Formats: sequence, structure tokens, C-alpha cells
Amino acid sequence: MTYETVIGLEVHIQIDTRTKMFCGCSNCFGADANTSICPICMGYPGVLPVPNYLAIRRTILAGLMCNCEIARFSKFDRKSYFYPDMPKNYQITQFDLPLCGSGHLDLSGKTLSGDLIPEKTVKITRIHLEEDVGKSTHFATCSGIDYNRAGVPLMEIVSEPDMKTPDEAYVYLRTLRAVMKYAGISDCDMEKGQMRCDVNISVRPTGASYLNPKTELKNLNSFKMVHHAIEYEIERQSDVLNNNGELVQQTRGWNDDAGETYVLREKENAHDYRYFPEPDLMPIRISDAELAAIKEEMPETPTDKKVRFVEQYHLPDYDAGVLTSDMDIAAYFEICVDSGGSPKKVSNWIMSELLRELSRVDVPITACPVPPQNLVALLTLVENKTINGKIAKSVFDEMFSSGKTADAIVVEQGLRQVTDTSEIIGLVRLVIAENPAVVAQYREGKGTALNFLVGQVMKLSRGKANPQLAVSSLKTELD
Ligand SMILES: [Zn+2]
Repeated sequence: MTYETVIGLEVHIQIDTRTKMFCGCSNCFGADANTSICPICMGYPGVLPVPNYLAIRRTILAGLMCNCEIARFSKFDRKSYFYPDMPKNYQITQFDLPLCGSGHLDLSGKTLSGDLIPEKTVKITRIHLEEDVGKSTHFATCSGIDYNRAGVPLMEIVSEPDMKTPDEAYVYLRTLRAVMKYAGISDCDMEKGQMRCDVNISVRPTGASYLNPKTELKNLNSFKMVHHAIEYEIERQSDVLNNNGELVQQTRGWNDDAGETYVLREKENAHDYRYFPEPDLMPIRISDAELAAIKEEMPETPTDKKVRFVEQYHLPDYDAGVLTSDMDIAAYFEICVDSGGSPKKVSNWIMSELLRELSRVDVPITACPVPPQNLVALLTLVENKTINGKIAKSVFDEMFSSGKTADAIVVEQGLRQVTDTSEIIGLVRLVIAENPAVVAQYREGKGTALNFLVGQVMKLSRGKANPQLAVSSLKTELD
């Protein structure tokens, strides 16, 4: 029996605002526990919430970035539940009239294994605006609660169950994060809890039209964990079905050390949250003028930027996809090109050397020790044949670790390319004299013999010989 997987994601993203959703407390991360709270976010009796206008605008902007229908009439609701992290015993959220309705996101960027994702569109069900809850920390004998996070503006983005593989879910999250960062809505830093993700996943026989009971995966702290947890669940659920077992609805967590999911809660019946319209807040009406003003704020989406990079810089689709998957990488690329770099050459260097080194030391491109202008200066040295391509790579590594410019390194280490023909011919004659057997092979027509001899010339010159000159001089001398 073969199976197919049905995956839907619920993503919570904190909105970057100065103050909380319904009060004037600072929306800050990392302050001392319970120092950014007030009677409103602590739910004292008789207080009145006042909505944060910027949070509403940014949620609508998020909807526009995700091609959603924007509601012209929307409202807040109360969701009742009792849990220590919720001081009011209800959460202000949106139930039946969310700010953003159906939309879609075109996936772009690389999978976990580094391949570019094939074309895929994921439908978005809705985006609604709510307030975050406090954060519990559990110790051996007691628990502590920090309410600084209670009342922070939070968006929930619900996708349709459109995804079928761990790769699609992984790239969906990356695309969503890229879009939010592009629009300045959130930094989506998962370590700070600014982006959190629940995965709904179920497996069924290929081609079936029914859905098996789903597993809800929680506490996934990185995109990588989402990928691994989905892989594990596909295996686990397929095994259950192969053994004629029955899947049951479960909430499961992910144990990263063990590399497996575990049961958090069994077969939950739907909660009765007793939703009702929040009586302390007026409904929201979005006028034509307001919607037009928010549309004005819309930056280029990653998809638009990718199309533009292909057209404007004549880059292959693959390059444009990698460069635009992150707004900061795209910006770095464009500064390089504006500083006179050739687009395809700049792109090659960013995609290979630069991104490799950044990921090795785990530094974002915004903190790259090689500024764009310095990378372009290095490429210029290759272009005008001051150094050859191979030396350029070692110069780059030195630039990356020391922060020095290419010019300084080339001068310091005497790396200037040898383009003096007589000097190269001297080396060529030496190599021919020292390798009679290989020279004989060359004369018998063995193609690889020439490569070996070129290698020897380069070695003798300590990598500094101009490779084209080495080849042509060798050929002339041998023939
Ligand atoms: Zn407050």
C-alpha cells in the first residue's frame, strides 16, 4: 500500500510594534519578568482595551503580501479558557470575521537538502489578529509565569491542508518568514518566540478522498525540527496503517534528542471556547482610502523580486530564487551590482563562497565581514587578471576571516598573477624537462596529460601563473 500525506500549518507571528495590542505597555523581549504589564493586559476588572492601529494595519499588510481578500468589516471576539498564562481567563481574538480571508503563497527557496523547491502554491485560509499569552517556566518544585508577553499583538496564519511533503512545509515556513521580513511586519525570530508553528498532519492511502484522524504537532522550535517531525510522523502513521492499526487524533510533541514525536494529549474533543463578540471593542471598518494607503506601503514580494532579478539582471531562475529567498541577501546582491559587479559573477560568489562561509560561522549576511564593495573589488582583481580565479578563492577566505580588503591581501602575500610570458615559458620548459613520461603520453594523444602538466606549472608558480597563458605556452613548447 502506498500512502500520501496531508499537511496544514498554523503559524503564529508576533507583530513588531512599540506597544502591546490593547494597552500602552512596551512590546519588548528579554525584559525582567513582569515589568512590562499593567491593569489592562493583566485583566483587572473594569479596564477597557484600546486596539493598536499599527497592529491592525500590519495584519492587513500581511494579508496583502499573501494575496488574501481583505475584510472591509471585521471584529474582535472573546475566546474563553482557563489557564495560568491567560490572566483575563479569555483571549481577545477573531472568530468568524477575521481581517484577512482566503489567499495564497507561492513557495520559493531551497529545501533542507539545498535543492530549489519545484513550483507550488499553498492556499491560505485566513489571517486573524489576537493577543499573545504569558509564558510559563517550570522548575523542579514550582512554576513561574512571565506576563510581559501577555497582550503582545499576534497574527495567526492558517494554511489549507495543501502540503504533501516535509520539504513543502519547510519551504512554506521559509517563504512566509521571508514575506513578513520583506514587509517589516516581524523579524520572525523563532528563538525569541516571534514565530511559532503547529503542524496538522495525517496519512491516507494514495488517492483516497477521506481524511484519517490527524496528529497536531506542537513545540517545534525550528524549521528543521518541523521537517524532521513531519518525516517521523509520516513513518509512524504509515506503520500504524500497515499493521492494520487505527489512527487516533492526538497532540504530539517533538523530542529533538531522541528524534521522535511523543504523545502530549490523547483524543481531545473540541473545546467549547464560548466565543462571543468582544463587547468592549467596536467592530473594525476598513475604508477604501485606508486600504489604498496600506497597499501603497506594500514592498515588492519575494516572487515579484525573483521575476525582476531574472528580467533585469538576466539571472537564471535558480540564482534569482536563492538570492530573493532572503531580503538581506537580495539587498547585498543589488549593492554589489550597483557598485559595478557583473550580476552573474556576483551571484556565483554569493551562492557559493559567501553563503557557505556565513553558514559555517552561523552569521547573518547583515553582519557579513566582507562588505559588498569589497567583494566587487575582489571580482575586479580577477577581471583585470591581477589574480586568477583559484587564488581569488583563498583571498576571499582571508577577507572573510580578517576583514581586510582584497588589494591589501594580494600585496601582503605577493599573490599577483604571473602574466610575464618569458617567466611562464621558463616554468613550462622546466616542467617538460622533469616529466618526460607524461610528455610522451601527450604526444601519443592522451588528453589528460596536458592537464597534469598545466597543474605542474601552476604548482611551480605557487598558483600565481595565469592559467590561460600556462596552457598556451605549454602547447606551443610541446608542439
Ligand atoms: Zn499592559
